[in-house]
Amino acid sequence: MARRTLLGAALGAGAVAAVGAPARALATPSGTIPGPASPVALDRVRLLESRYRQNMGRTVAYLRSVDLDRLLHTFRMTAGLPTSAEPCGGWEAPHVQLRGHSTGHLLSGLALTACHLGDDELADRGSRLVAALADCQAAIPATGQTPGYLSAFPEKAFVDLEAGKNVWAPYYTIHKIMAGLLDQHRLLGNEQAMAVLLGMVGWVDTRTSRLSREVMQKVLHTEFGGMNEVLANLWFVTGDPHHLELATRFEHDEIFGPLAERRNTLAGRHANTDIAKVVGAAVQWEATGEDRYHTIATYFWDQVVHHHSYVIGGNSNAEFFGPPGQVVSQLGENTCENCNSYNMLKLSRQLFLREPDRTEYMDYYEWTVLNQMLGEQDPDSAHGNVTYYTGLSSTASRKGKEGLVSDPGSYSSDYGNFSCDHGTAMETQVKFADSVYFTQDDAVLVNLFVPSVLDWEERCVRLRLETGYPYDERVRVVVERGGSFELRIRVPGWTERAGQPPALRVNGRSPGVVCRPGSYARVRRTWQEGDVLELALPMTPIWLAAPDNPAVHALTHGPLVLAGRYADDPPPTLPVVDPGTLRPETGFAEYSLEVDERRIRMSPFLDVHHEHYNVYWAQPPQLPQPKLVARYGFDELTGGFRDATGRWADAVLAGGASRIDRDGGGAVALNGAGGHVVLPEGLPSELAELTVAMLVRLDAIANSARVFDLGSNSQTYMFLTPRTGLGRARFAMKLSGMEGEDVIDADRALPVGSWTHVAITLGAGVGRLYFDGVEVGRNPALKMSPLLLGRTQRNYLGRSQNPRHPWLAGAVDDFRLYGVALAGEDVAALHAGSFDRWE
Ligand SMILES: [Zn+2]
Repeated sequence: MARRTLLGAALGAGAVAAVGAPARALATPSGTIPGPASPVALDRVRLLESRYRQNMGRTVAYLRSVDLDRLLHTFRMTAGLPTSAEPCGGWEAPHVQLRGHSTGHLLSGLALTACHLGDDELADRGSRLVAALADCQAAIPATGQTPGYLSAFPEKAFVDLEAGKNVWAPYYTIHKIMAGLLDQHRLLGNEQAMAVLLGMVGWVDTRTSRLSREVMQKVLHTEFGGMNEVLANLWFVTGDPHHLELATRFEHDEIFGPLAERRNTLAGRHANTDIAKVVGAAVQWEATGEDRYHTIATYFWDQVVHHHSYVIGGNSNAEFFGPPGQVVSQLGENTCENCNSYNMLKLSRQLFLREPDRTEYMDYYEWTVLNQMLGEQDPDSAHGNVTYYTGLSSTASRKGKEGLVSDPGSYSSDYGNFSCDHGTAMETQVKFADSVYFTQDDAVLVNLFVPSVLDWEERCVRLRLETGYPYDERVRVVVERGGSFELRIRVPGWTERAGQPPALRVNGRSPGVVCRPGSYARVRRTWQEGDVLELALPMTPIWLAAPDNPAVHALTHGPLVLAGRYADDPPPTLPVVDPGTLRPETGFAEYSLEVDERRIRMSPFLDVHHEHYNVYWAQPPQLPQPKLVARYGFDELTGGFRDATGRWADAVLAGGASRIDRDGGGAVALNGAGGHVVLPEGLPSELAELTVAMLVRLDAIANSARVFDLGSNSQTYMFLTPRTGLGRARFAMKLSGMEGEDVIDADRALPVGSWTHVAITLGAGVGRLYFDGVEVGRNPALKMSPLLLGRTQRNYLGRSQNPRHPWLAGAVDDFRLYGVALAGEDVAALHAGSFDRWE
């Protein structure tokens, strides 16, 4: 209670003293400030027994136990103060340029938990940490470094950064420390934290004010976390317009420019670097009301959530965004960096506060918390160790060597890891309570179905949320202290797929209000003590198709993504399964599925730990596919090159490819210097078996050139090359994340100087390669089904997915794709010109 008074007093004083600083929802626990929606202060929500509270408990145990002196060691060294603590390892080791970032997360984690739990010990640890950092900051000038500087590495990193030298991410670390200090102030009223923070802000101002805009934009090329976010957030407390102006110095034109014009240039960009900048834009929108920031933040959110995210809500492959729409064609053991979702959740919540009727933000929030963030933590670790990535290839696991940052799927450790994800988890795992409830005027919004008690003090209302969700289809809100208000409960968007509609009851009866998936159900009445609002959310197993591959699905049950449990024996790539073999097993949302003649257990993904797992599954198409899928004869003398089946767009000549005559018809000449044919997207999609056949004439042979290459990127493709380093032609096929390729090696290279009829047939796990109707190579044990190729985005003749490979020099003609694996005699007939079935 004492702390609560302190909190209110500190924030009230800040808001009153500030000139021009709008008191704001985030900084005011009372919810009295008009605004679209207000968060509920952390100390008004008490979590009840649940998976959320268990996760929080493990991380709290870490926050209580981690040795502050060990984390302060490098700060003290940098400030020239004595220190005898044992150095930390991982990214906090004394030689690592990111050192210090974990202390920022620790400040935030301690502030969040001390406020939420009203825990003096956690608050005292925070105060001690702040005081020790203040000592370091005070000692800095005597070392010859700029007053106000506070970091665990010397200021020279910034001199190097400004000089264009290669440094890791110095402002990223500064941002974490500043955000931690701000949290200590705004959640606990720690005045020393504000003083230290203002000292750092002065230092940021000194360093950046002397840089030209051009040089500053170069500085921003190096990851800088959410510097614009923390400075704009600071303005809400201080009201000092200079803090808002400082935030604008950290606007990165290279990313904000296109986003403001609603252009998606994210492919190939480091995801978490950009997400943090956009979280800042969302806060700048709140601070300034400028539409530009709103456009940047909302357009980015839409693009990432709808075009760059995996089924669990995470994004990025090996930390980078791929082209829009590539999901299954971008699998790997290091997809979904967990920090990215930490930041996407911040962005979602920030946007939701201003646009609370857009429940999509909170649908995404819940889905990602359930399917990525809860599961990032090892439930068997006493201190809440987490993975760095959530891998989604078939070989992914949560079981790597403990503590190693470099080992995908490994859990962190107390002192040997300190990855960015170990850091963000110190916040993620302890702030579930901050998004369960919000208020808006006289309405309370029930958002996340986390068992908890809300004290809505301003209205003397108390609610108890009781549920076993997500392992329970019922959510009950029990009124413990009543009043006249609107109770608004989120009806999750996923219920639209459930088969049965969600149902709302108040005291056992329909309240006669709309209960539509993806909206709030609103019940306004005078609530009496003992009133019960119950929301029934029917859950059934639903297969969700991947956006880039209609044959590949993930299994969900209500809000849960399920994973196949593979212990120590992962499949080489995504298995092909018959969904008809799915059968319920004992336990909520537990199933089994027949895969490669054995039963694989399917469990909620968040519960799968210490083993390999698989999340995406291929299924044979339900409708029969055409026998002849596409045929390009290249015989048109003018206009486009048409597909004879009429289903596909024209083939396009590019890079200097040209029409030539061949036997009275046409063909395409490729100049070996950029000339190629672009075929339409998606050609091999949904084919469980197939044949590719075409004519090719080489004028010269180059290793790794491509006769054809149908795929999406340099990790997902199928191609034929005239010759590899082994001196033979090779067909190869691969899905991103699969170990190795499926290959069919010919017994010879593709001939030069004459037309050759080439054909590849794939079916029933067997691949065959033919030249002129004669089999020249076979693979009797393909690991992957061509179904996994999906809606290929880049389909070429004469060009590789890999830009380093040579172009084909020669000519191509009569490309055909069949939806069946033709028999040997059919391929021979095709070569002889006597095969005319399905034409
Ligand atoms: Zn990270």
